[in-house]
Amino acid sequence: MEDRIYDLIIIGGGPAGLTAGLYAARNRVDHALLERLSPGGQVLNTDWVENWPGTEGISGFDLADAMRAHAEKFGLARFSKEVIDLKLGGEIKEIILADGVARCKALIIASGANPTKLRIKGEAELTGKGVSYCGTCDGPFFRDQVVVAIGGGDAAVEEAIFLTKFAKKVYLVHRRNELRAAKIAQERAFQNEKIEILWNSIVTNIAGDDKVTGVTVQDVQTSAHRDFEVDGVFIFVGVKPNSDFLSADISRNTAGFIKVNLEMETGIPGVFAAGDVIDKKMRQICTAAGDGATALASAERYLESLK
Ligand code: NAP
Repeated sequence: MEDRIYDLIIIGGGPAGLTAGLYAARNRVDHALLERLSPGGQVLNTDWVENWPGTEGISGFDLADAMRAHAEKFGLARFSKEVIDLKLGGEIKEIILADGVARCKALIIASGANPTKLRIKGEAELTGKGVSYCGTCDGPFFRDQVVVAIGGGDAAVEEAIFLTKFAKKVYLVHRRNELRAAKIAQERAFQNEKIEILWNSIVTNIAGDDKVTGVTVQDVQTSAHRDFEVDGVFIFVGVKPNSDFLSADISRNTAGFIKVNLEMETGIPGVFAAGDVIDKKMRQICTAAGDGATALASAERYLESLK
């Protein structure tokens, strides 16, 4: 990365950041995209994507790689950098990196989100030893075993269905008596003989020393506890924004997601946000890509206004 003031810096290389980067590269906007890990974001942890228009189905890894390659073909300038702080007071924005400082006139924050933790006994201790937040990544380790999936949203239901490819039995534990997931996913789960749904239930304890051996499930209506012998626990109870590095002047909701208007403007001139890190209802690859394109158009308008 060059030591100069870039017109635009994009933080994050998921679908939102890569789409902003693709548009920036095609529109010949002077830019740099900063990504601390591999490009792709949460798509990399998605087994199979079948709601990206134009493809009936594609693995998350292949889609992420295709997005990266597509943007790079048009000249995306991508750097492996971790952002730890932002200084947004002046016209030139300062991006504090783990190994230096980057400067720009316009900034798009597309840093994404991560799975929420349940914070129950055994969760932290047994993460990687049977506790997982990614069925796609870890499902194959549970061939012919018994696992629990926790949650009632799209992630929990889709991942529970995916886990049945490997596990002989999947308990889906949900704290209410109806699922939040899309109806088509619900129908598939209800029809899947390997899935047993434990309604009105929460997992209160994950047992095991070196690896998961069981869970305690509490019925929230009766308070009765039942122990289940299981080999894996998959937790899908929502997402947390990657927004810890953001300065206090960026307006966020109580969960930490960045507030933006329809133009992806944050309220700070020249600072835009896009994708899963923003406060919105639909966190999908399509919506992230759309946000990225909108943010880039707004950033371009802002850069024009500086001339
Ligand atoms: P989500 O939609 O927020 O669902 C979280 C689920 O976890 C809810 O059912 C919630 O229960 C439950 N939950 C939350 N805290 C809990 C706790 N402490 N104990 C027990 N259960 C708890 O999150 P998500 O499924 O990760 O999805 C996030 C976003 O990504 C959503 O917008 C979703 O539509 C999207 N997504 C889309 C796809 C797709 O389209 N293919 C795939 C995955 C995710 P309640 O229902 O009672 O609140």
